[in-house]
Amino acid sequence: MKLEDRITHEIRARRDDLIALTQDLIRIPTLNPPGRHYREICDYLAERLLAEGFEVELIRAHDAPGDSDTYPRWNMVARREGTRPGDCVHFNSHHDVVEVGHGWTRDPFGAEIEGDRIYGRGACDMKGGLAASVIAAEALITACPDYAGAIEISATADEETGGYGGVAYLAAQGRFAPERVQHVIIPEPLHKDQICLGHRGVWWAEIETHGRIAHGSMPFLGDSAVRHMGAVLAEMEETLFPLLTTKHTAMPVIPEGARQSTLNINSIHGGEPEQDPGYTGLPAPCVPDRCRIIIDRRFLIEEQIDEVKSEVSALMERVKARRANFTYEIRDLFEVQPTMTDRDAPVVRSTAAAIAAVLGREAAYVVSPGTYDQKHIDRIGRLKNCIAYGPGVLALAHQPDEWIGITDMEDSAKVMALVLAELLGK
Ligand SMILES: [Zn+2]
Repeated sequence: MKLEDRITHEIRARRDDLIALTQDLIRIPTLNPPGRHYREICDYLAERLLAEGFEVELIRAHDAPGDSDTYPRWNMVARREGTRPGDCVHFNSHHDVVEVGHGWTRDPFGAEIEGDRIYGRGACDMKGGLAASVIAAEALITACPDYAGAIEISATADEETGGYGGVAYLAAQGRFAPERVQHVIIPEPLHKDQICLGHRGVWWAEIETHGRIAHGSMPFLGDSAVRHMGAVLAEMEETLFPLLTTKHTAMPVIPEGARQSTLNINSIHGGEPEQDPGYTGLPAPCVPDRCRIIIDRRFLIEEQIDEVKSEVSALMERVKARRANFTYEIRDLFEVQPTMTDRDAPVVRSTAAAIAAVLGREAAYVVSPGTYDQKHIDRIGRLKNCIAYGPGVLALAHQPDEWIGITDMEDSAKVMALVLAELLGK
């Protein structure tokens, strides 16, 4: 039998195992925040991969944001050497899931099966992808025991809250250094026929306008920070939002609406703090002396972050020139550079060929509107040969009644195993 046929056979033979593995992973409720059951899911995977001949390390991200003795940030990294020198292919999945939220009609941690679907929080984002990568590696090991190089599988913490206790920590330790790992696939739910090359950039900032408190019956004795902020928002509507719609990108971002610069005003707070829901009293009459907004600006590979920031500071200066007593501060909260892997990179070419072989259609190339752990692999790990590829429908992520398709997992496991065969099997 040809290697490709042996792989197809091995994946098909593991269908029940793939389902059971996915169910087991969903049933460990690795909720983040606060970061529950991380050790349990790492131990579960470690036991399985040790039995497959992997060397396994459990690594706690000591002192990373969120790490504590109550909620330790555990990560699992497994590596299985081949029989001869060659490249290392690394599958990286995050093991944390977001809160359950409202609107479920199923048990979020029951992993119920109906038809071709397995339901549960994290089913698509991304325990189904993690399970597919484990099955792909195991199938390749059986079908091609004399593979070259090494296979690595990691399950990492905290992707949903920035990845600092997960991939960022491991990358800072050199775990994604180009001399150790040459190809990275992140099985996020981007759909089994799409290759995600990277993501847009992010700048989060807090803008604060200042005022002066006074009695609300005599507002002329004070200075309203909320009215100042109103002028800022009006200026954004007038000049900034129209400007952003003119900035288009050559990045193949999905959905289409994100193929330009965007800005979200994440929150606005001014004046008296909101009272607890049980409070039955009235507000006190005061002129608000402080107003804050948080902005979430997503930028393109064609833009420089300095330009992005100076658009906003120029806007604030325009408002200042028109308003008496207008003072403000801008505080940077968070920034991520955009990243996009070259279409000619080896991991991209191998994955595109495997998608064509398994699904009989051309792979689509996409870029994610939001960031994921590729940012750390690129910036800290200095590794460019990295993509996101995995089963699942992105729109289901973080939704109630999240599910993963069993056939989709099986197909993408085949694709991943063929990528391993292409990169390590010769
Ligand atoms: Zn995810």
